Amino acid sequence: MIPVTILTGFLGSGKTTLLKRILNDQYGMKIAVIENEFGEKNIDNKILVQETNEQIIQMSNGCICCTIRGDLARALEDLAERKKAGTLNFDHVVIETTGLANPGPVAQTFFMDNTIADEFLLDAIVTLVDAKHADHQLDEHEVVQRQVGFADRLFITKSDLVAAAALDARKHRLVHMNPRAVIEVVNFGDADIKEIFDLRGFNLNSKLEIDPGFPGGRRSRPLHLRPRSQPRP
Ligand SMILES: [Zn+2]
Repeated sequence: MIPVTILTGFLGSGKTTLLKRILNDQYGMKIAVIENEFGEKNIDNKILVQETNEQIIQMSNGCICCTIRGDLARALEDLAERKKAGTLNFDHVVIETTGLANPGPVAQTFFMDNTIADEFLLDAIVTLVDAKHADHQLDEHEVVQRQVGFADRLFITKSDLVAAAALDARKHRLVHMNPRAVIEVVNFGDADIKEIFDLRGFNLNSKLEIDPGFPGGRRSRPLHLRPRSQPRP
């Protein structure tokens, strides 16, 4: 079974910074990356591709949480086949979603498709949260709430941009939203690699708790930037 990490987080939360660091010092791990950059203009992605072109699959024709979920499944199957054939060598897959994606439907891919379920193990959903903008983003975007709710591990990034009291308040809010996830504060992608991989943190039961429709239910539909029509109660 090939372990897979879903790396998620809203726009500007530092996913690419973290991923770049992971790829730069891989600690002996060989990592294949599936990047979905639909809707994000991210110049850092170009650098990634130049440095490690063989292991990066870019999916930019749509969003992997909804419009191109079939493409994601095929990309994973292709990776597994190439690994078996010995034409590609990797130990782990990272799926970097767009900032606008709901990780729920992406995670479903690993349970609904038998071929993929046989080959891959969803290791964890890792979600990055921007310390400075998280409150506003959580208020405004349901998809950010989903990203936090589905997380097995939460990294609070850009913590140097907020005061200690504000950082505590963010942590407090995240703990209430997702008491199961381990929460860590990181700066500039400076997270311990052991805190990212091989967490074996994905717990289907906990996902069913937060979303009874998971997987495949009505409530686990993809969510995108939808401004809340009602103010928070
Ligand atoms: Zn989507």
